[in-house]
Amino acid sequence: MKALGNYEVWFVTGSQHLYGAETLKQVNQNSTQIAQALDSSTSIPVKVVFKPVLTTPEAITQICAEANNTANCIGLVAWMHTFSPAKMWIQGLKILYKPLLDFHTQFGRDIPWANIDMDFMNLNQTAHGGREFGFINARMRMERKVVVGHWAVDAVQKQIGTWTRAAAAWQDAQGGKIARFGDNMRNVAVTEGDKVGAQMHLGFSVYGYGMGDLVAYISKVTDQEAEQLVKVYSQEYSIATGVLENAANKNTLMSEAKIELGLRRFLEEGNFKGFTTTFEDLHGLPQLPGLAVQRLMADGYGFGAEGDWKTAALLRMTKVMDKGLEGGSSFMEDYTYHLDPANPKVLGSHMLEICPSIARSNSNLEIHPLSIGGKADPARLVFDVAQGKAVNAALMDMGNRYRLLLNKVDVVACEPMPKLPVARVMWEPKPSLEVATSAWIMAGGAHHTAFSKALTEEHFEDLALIAGIEFVLIDEQTNIHQFRNELRWNDLYFHISKGIFA
Ligand code: MN
Repeated sequence: MKALGNYEVWFVTGSQHLYGAETLKQVNQNSTQIAQALDSSTSIPVKVVFKPVLTTPEAITQICAEANNTANCIGLVAWMHTFSPAKMWIQGLKILYKPLLDFHTQFGRDIPWANIDMDFMNLNQTAHGGREFGFINARMRMERKVVVGHWAVDAVQKQIGTWTRAAAAWQDAQGGKIARFGDNMRNVAVTEGDKVGAQMHLGFSVYGYGMGDLVAYISKVTDQEAEQLVKVYSQEYSIATGVLENAANKNTLMSEAKIELGLRRFLEEGNFKGFTTTFEDLHGLPQLPGLAVQRLMADGYGFGAEGDWKTAALLRMTKVMDKGLEGGSSFMEDYTYHLDPANPKVLGSHMLEICPSIARSNSNLEIHPLSIGGKADPARLVFDVAQGKAVNAALMDMGNRYRLLLNKVDVVACEPMPKLPVARVMWEPKPSLEVATSAWIMAGGAHHTAFSKALTEEHFEDLALIAGIEFVLIDEQTNIHQFRNELRWNDLYFHISKGIFA
């Protein structure tokens, strides 16, 4: 079973009647073979379903309408085996709502040097047929990913696989619900935003609740249920000796288990995909949910602290995209710097809520006071993160559009920090802390991010493309002068784009 095997993309091939029945039969056979190869590729986490070759405007319009109306179809992979006059595609592309990938491939990889003749030339027309398709997409300002290369090559299949992950996250977000317990942390700007715009452009909606709504669920959890869950904690995590023997600590864990069970029930009954909390509003709760949030994130829920519904939604999309991949993803915050000029780094963490999917090894379950909020001492998982490549992504409302900002980072080793009672990760941003942070600050990048060791910038760029939002990348190539101009030009682009694209 594929990691996202409940979803499918449709493989559609463009052609025309001009070539006659024999050629079209061949086109159909070749397309079937390519669709099957993609379907069985381990680099593509969804099903790839072959659809009969398209030769008329009516058939193209019909397949686009069917794709729109098929819930588990998350996009079209379109290939022009031969020339397919692109005016035939206008009506279909006009109504197509699902994501589109323009696959520019050719059935035969190599030119058969000794035998090439006009029959071969007439069958293998991608090189110009694909350009005709490219023109109509460009003319109609269709947002789509273009993948070029032979269909049997793994690197090519991987690009398609990455896009299908983004398309799955997009589909999951459509009609998706985020529960927001309490409101925004007072006076914080970046966690605010236009929820109507978010629903229009990203698909999810935010449901606000008072803490009493959640407390009602938590108070219904029985002691027995909580006892059972505490047993699970002791099986899954390292708990320091004596913790469970101490009555106050046991009480803390029981209370955390009740929070987890109540929160989980609330989210399941309401079919929520993510949630937010805020330590400024914990009325009726004994402590800020820590362990509970960590465990729910590990199960695939999106989360944002301090009322940050945008990051909760972004993390949910990240969790859909990383399904079945190694590395994990978490809610994250740029917390503290190590500013040694020879070796500058960022310490990423949060008050409690870091997802154990990114943990290097077993997590320690610990109970410590929280130096803010004035509530009982919360339980939390404490761990380190293994070295390797990672990305930090943030979603901001820029007033007239959403901006998805991404920085590539290297997770690095750090000195032991025995007194730090939270999960932590140390990274060096690309291209350097100085340039990356200047660029991030210039772009209005949030302090909350979705951090992923499983995904790359390509996943997020594909997602932004599908959503039609701005994507800005900070990587090895970033140059501050060009970056500042890119932001200015993007401002202009998003300001006027609706007016000129007709
Ligand atoms: Mn925070």
